[in-house]
Amino acid sequence: MSMQQVIEEGEQVLLHTYNRYPIVLDHGDGMYLYDLDGKKYLDFCAGIAVFALGYNNKHYNDALKAQVDKLLHTSNYYYSEPTIQAAKKLTAVTGMDRVFFTNSGAEAIEGAIKAARKFAYTHDGSTDHEIIAMHHSFHGRTMGALSATGNEKYQKPFMPMIGNIRFADFNDLKSVKALVNDKTCAIIMETVQGEGGIHPADPYFMRGIRQLCDDRGILLILDEIQCGMGRSGKMFAFEHYGVKPDILTVAKAVGCGVPVGAFLMTERVAKSSLVAGDHGSTYGGNPLAGCAVSTVLDLFEENHILENVVNVSKYLSARLEELVLENDCILGHRGLGLMQGLVFDTELASPGEIVKRCLDNGLILITAGADVIRFLPPLIAGTEHVDEMIEIFRKCLKG
Ligand SMILES: *Cc1c(COP(=O)(O)O)cnc(C)c1O
Repeated sequence: MSMQQVIEEGEQVLLHTYNRYPIVLDHGDGMYLYDLDGKKYLDFCAGIAVFALGYNNKHYNDALKAQVDKLLHTSNYYYSEPTIQAAKKLTAVTGMDRVFFTNSGAEAIEGAIKAARKFAYTHDGSTDHEIIAMHHSFHGRTMGALSATGNEKYQKPFMPMIGNIRFADFNDLKSVKALVNDKTCAIIMETVQGEGGIHPADPYFMRGIRQLCDDRGILLILDEIQCGMGRSGKMFAFEHYGVKPDILTVAKAVGCGVPVGAFLMTERVAKSSLVAGDHGSTYGGNPLAGCAVSTVLDLFEENHILENVVNVSKYLSARLEELVLENDCILGHRGLGLMQGLVFDTELASPGEIVKRCLDNGLILITAGADVIRFLPPLIAGTEHVDEMIEIFRKCLKG
């Protein structure tokens, strides 16, 4: 089938929840993707921060193939070795004590919200606890996750939300403190806001939130679904701040293509939170997902992914900074590690149009919010890929 035929068929049968770009991606290798016509694309999106190891990683593919031939699924009513290996490795790298595997990021958020509410309920028996979330946050599309997502456009058609979630301004400690009361059971936020436009938490804000939570007996839920798993240059972005969450959500790169997420918690939270019968998932953390997470974490170490992110992100930052200086339409640059964004003056240039031109020229990028273009390459990117990206991007900026 030609690309055009596939696209036309897709338009007939898929629900129109995405404005898809008119290409059909067929296969990938390392930093590159190929469409059905064989056209090559340099990938600086990584399936939205998913494919950290790059495409067609042989070690990863072989591990998954072996697991497919052995056992794909059993119920969570039984133990499975790959899943327990994954849990051991994931608790070790996060510093958390216990994990529940989910199939997506949004489900990890649902679990985190339930865990926080149950913890508070166990302590005082009341059923009207509040959670504080942030404006411009993104936590997913299911009703609980959407209720914590500070974006009116995403929420409004689906009202009412789950209730008792209040919104403060990210990086404004006073605005959070103003919402705290005796019913507050948790604060949920991304360590680096992703969809909201690549906003890292200020160190002062992050430490203030941790202190506030400690002082008032509130649980801190950090959503590292996008910024975690090495993307920031540390395994988890909260490590940059010297704080630890009480509940942590991960997904995206934790499976590197196999749909898996997780929420994790400290033993202190686990002791007074979800117990048998409170939560479950048919697929969550099945042997295939367990094998994926376990292998990803091994490969992060073997391939020195963190060192690479630290080195290459410095170079990426410097090259993006050049673009800021060269172009009036680019107002600035922010980010952490290989999660970077360029902020545009939308009067002078359209980020959406630039992303489209880049695609035509063989570079995959994605926007964040209305005025930011995001750079989220696979974490195996080298400085030569940054140079190749900058060259195409520069050409496409000019139109
Ligand atoms: C992508 C994302 C989610 C939702 O994950 P899904 O797997 O799409 O449900 C939640 N939080 C953050 C920060 C994300 O980037």
